[in-house]
Amino acid sequence: MVLRMSRLLLKTLRDDPADAETASHKLLVRAGYVRRSSAGMWSWLPLGKRVLDNVGRIVREEMEAIGGQEVLLPALLPREAYEATGRAAEYGDLLFRLTDRKGSDYILGPTHEEIFTQLVKDQVSSYKELPVILYQIQTKYRDEARPRSGVLRGREFQMKDAYSFDTTEEGLAEAYRLHREAYTRIFRRLGLDFRIVSAVSGAMGGSDSEEFLAPAAAGEDTYADCPRCDYAANTEAVTFTATVPAAAGSGPAGPVEELDTPGTPTIDALAAHLGVPAAATLKNLLVTVDGEITAVGVPGDREVDLGKLAEHLAPATVELATAEDFAARPELVRGYVGPQGLGIRYLADPRVAPGTAWITGANKPGRHAANVVCGRDFQVDRSLDVATVEPGDPCPRCGAGLRLDRAIEIGHIFRIGHKYTDVFRLDVLGPDGRPVRVTMGSYGIGISRAVAALAEQTADAHGLCWPAEVAPADVHIVPAGKAAQRELAARAADALHTAGRRVLLDDRTGLSPGVKFADADLIGVPVLLTAGRRAAEGVVELKDRRTGVREELPLAEALARLGG
Ligand code: ATP
Ligand code: MG
Repeated sequence: MVLRMSRLLLKTLRDDPADAETASHKLLVRAGYVRRSSAGMWSWLPLGKRVLDNVGRIVREEMEAIGGQEVLLPALLPREAYEATGRAAEYGDLLFRLTDRKGSDYILGPTHEEIFTQLVKDQVSSYKELPVILYQIQTKYRDEARPRSGVLRGREFQMKDAYSFDTTEEGLAEAYRLHREAYTRIFRRLGLDFRIVSAVSGAMGGSDSEEFLAPAAAGEDTYADCPRCDYAANTEAVTFTATVPAAAGSGPAGPVEELDTPGTPTIDALAAHLGVPAAATLKNLLVTVDGEITAVGVPGDREVDLGKLAEHLAPATVELATAEDFAARPELVRGYVGPQGLGIRYLADPRVAPGTAWITGANKPGRHAANVVCGRDFQVDRSLDVATVEPGDPCPRCGAGLRLDRAIEIGHIFRIGHKYTDVFRLDVLGPDGRPVRVTMGSYGIGISRAVAALAEQTADAHGLCWPAEVAPADVHIVPAGKAAQRELAARAADALHTAGRRVLLDDRTGLSPGVKFADADLIGVPVLLTAGRRAAEGVVELKDRRTGVREELPLAEALARLGG
């Protein structure tokens, strides 16, 4: 293949798009891989489509290698199936909902467990037809609240979703193991740096669950990593099994004492005003749980992890209290809330243990209260591990201080079990002639997100820098400009094309070599072949995009090097 830049739908940009924050967002737009169509909706242009397809090809090859069978189900799905499993409510506003001309309710699929379960129920009747692994690469829809970061988090995006169906626990364990290995091969081939971490299973429901995370500053996930043992988990899934040490003083406390603390609505301001450590204060966050106003208490040096909270309270919907919620309850004084005498449900971190004494809001503007004792001055309705994990917290497995890092979730595998097969009563005839309930696993990869994750991890100051297997071309050829240079470049392109290499040829006229080289760096094909100064002698230059190392050599040798 020779892609001629003179004909390519490609317009590189010198400036970052105004709203872009992450490197992948900026560079994929600037290098002409994607264009924003509307909020969270992206068009893939020729170069981007090639990278997306390369990711898809690698995923397909490795899914076929574990016996996966590719199918393609509709994206437009009857809402009924998602009502039956309770996921319509769990996904809530994330679901795009629509109605057809007859008034029937539909959704745009956010993931397809329900529909695959129904498909297998329709197609399979005996244990002899199982196990089966089905997968698709398809457009998914989620009405994300904050579609930022370009294709990292789209409202429409490409996902590979796979589902395994087995009659035994051992079978499911094997399917899970196969996917874990296939994913490891896929992400290695993609050239991604990744970690496998324990995860919570979210709206998918299920038991064992692991995420594949690509460490990157732009990531929206945080994972904890133990420097001593092999423990690694999404911070949402870190649960402290040992009793957590109480954070605040638990000696005998005097009576509650009200303090005048004007202008201290934040813990930082309060701690500075009183000269106490943040850990001595009790922070109270107001949320609604299925609409019911609820306070959540954590030591002041921590935050409430909303992901953990939602997981504990699932399937209830947890939302931050709004200005209207506060307005409706004047007893809740924003920035000065304390659990004592509050009269609403109170959830708290286990560190807020009976006998611990805290400095917390006095439920009056500008005032706090000290010596507020758990069990004496307020009660905890439910103790929940909902505080954020902090660097240095003890590893739940070995006690060493945990490290925290940001990462992008690129894949997620989990053993679901019977959640869906129970709802749709998916049974097959077992060996003894009696029906057996089928058990399921679910395995996703963000195909379009993987493109962005790769861009995040590999880009440098000059632009994108693709690993070989996903790059839009194997070689980028740039003639400096003169006729002899153009002729040599064309010869190189032909020879490489004949040898089955994928070539991007910069045959644009009227551009300075500097502009072409800057574009080549921005586009990020692994090897740049330049026909320049010594073209008349038949000498070209090869440059490795990653290392920047250049070398002059006769065309024949350069071609041999490139497999031409
Ligand atoms: P997140 O926590 O990032 O919202 P998720 O846990 O909801 O993702 P899953 O339901 O596990 O996502 O979906 C499988 C995979 O699809 C994810 O691992 C991720 O790679 C990808 N994915 C999910 N949401 C998006 C999105 N909005 N844009 C692009 N890719 C996505
Ligand atoms: Mg997930």
